[in-house]
Amino acid sequence: MDKVSQASVNYRRGIDRQCAKCTMYTHGPDGATFGGCTHVTGLITPYGVCDDHAWLANPFGRLSQAHRIALHSHRLNRALAG
Ligand code: SF4
Repeated sequence: MDKVSQASVNYRRGIDRQCAKCTMYTHGPDGATFGGCTHVTGLITPYGVCDDHAWLANPFGRLSQAHRIALHSHRLNRALAG
């Protein structure tokens, strides 16, 4: 199956959804900044994301409500600290 272009799937910086947590991401050599994708053309960073993101199964399960609140609170405090 042919790959699609980055522009056609709105490839961009990821925040919560990221290529690193997508079933289609393929790692580059150890320590490499970029890997690839079985669905999208070109160099792909694990920090990116596109509209066709597909969650990789998480062996730890879903975050609890308390953990999610703590995570967002931590991010907010880091952002406010500049
Ligand atoms: S399908 Fe999209 S989100 Fe998944 S690895 Fe490829 S570019 Fe990243």
